[in-house]
Amino acid sequence: MCAKLVVLGSVNADHVIRVPRFARAGETLRGSGYRIAYGGKGANQAVAAARLKDPNTQVDFIACLGNDDIGRAMKAAFAKDGINTATITQIEQEMTGVAMIQVADNGENSIVISAGANACLDEHLVSCYAVHIQQADALLMQLETPLSAICKAAQIAKQNGTKVILNPAPAQALPEELLRQLYMITPNETEAEILTGIKVEDKISAAQAAKRFHQLGVQIVLITLGAKGVYFSENGQGQIIGGFRVKARDTTAAGDTFNGALVVALLEGKTLTNAIRFAHAAAAISVTREGAQPSIPHRAETLDFLA
Ligand code: ATP
Repeated sequence: MCAKLVVLGSVNADHVIRVPRFARAGETLRGSGYRIAYGGKGANQAVAAARLKDPNTQVDFIACLGNDDIGRAMKAAFAKDGINTATITQIEQEMTGVAMIQVADNGENSIVISAGANACLDEHLVSCYAVHIQQADALLMQLETPLSAICKAAQIAKQNGTKVILNPAPAQALPEELLRQLYMITPNETEAEILTGIKVEDKISAAQAAKRFHQLGVQIVLITLGAKGVYFSENGQGQIIGGFRVKARDTTAAGDTFNGALVVALLEGKTLTNAIRFAHAAAAISVTREGAQPSIPHRAETLDFLA
């Protein structure tokens, strides 16, 4: 039997430049190492799902690209990764989303985003692709595209028995109606704090934050804790499941790799604990490498890592 995942979310071209420090107003600064990388949380999670899925799972990606060369190149790259690109819309009058990222020598970064075509992923577009969501086993979303469309997609999914998984990044206030539609929520510590008002510092505070999500109707809460792993709670029973110890070089897209891996592992029938272990392995490999999509591992190397 074939399982089907729909990922709905953003696509960004990340323009990255190294700077000795951030420029002051009116100042021109010499940077170095300029590169363009494919990113956007939706795209990263779709790529992770496609590289890490078993052969019986199909990954559809509902997204909007601009009418530009980078948009066309990204679509071709998604197809090469095995993503079904039939649900990707190219918007005539728009540019593909962009993130201008400065990375300072002290490791800090500063990011300015222009949504571009991502802002066109609206309720009307979700209606056009409703049948894909209705036929899916799971719908994975983040918060870089318009919230009204995310709510609409969740509603369609819930009505048709499609499990909704929300990675609430970047964090913003969410309608309780949306939280009630969720099978699973996967915030990091900061996002969990913004959404619940509870500072997540240890197992006890993680349990309190999880309880708050459960009270709002979310069935499974998974708070990612960076190198420490995750706090995982189902029916109020929670535990920390540790990650893998690796030498981290760049944690960009660790969370996205984790989410994509987790959902495809669940779709192939793994238990939640085993799916988390698989996702930890994929995310651990990703932090040993530079960049967003280039750092996301394939299934075979992740299974080797676990062997
Ligand atoms: P990002 O925004 O950097 O993509 P995030 O804040 O959404 O990440 P994290 O909680 O930092 O998510 O990490 C997600 C998962 O990635 C962790 O649960 C873990 O599996 C893995 N991970 C992150 N950092 C490390 C690390 N230093 N070593 C090993 N695994 C890591």
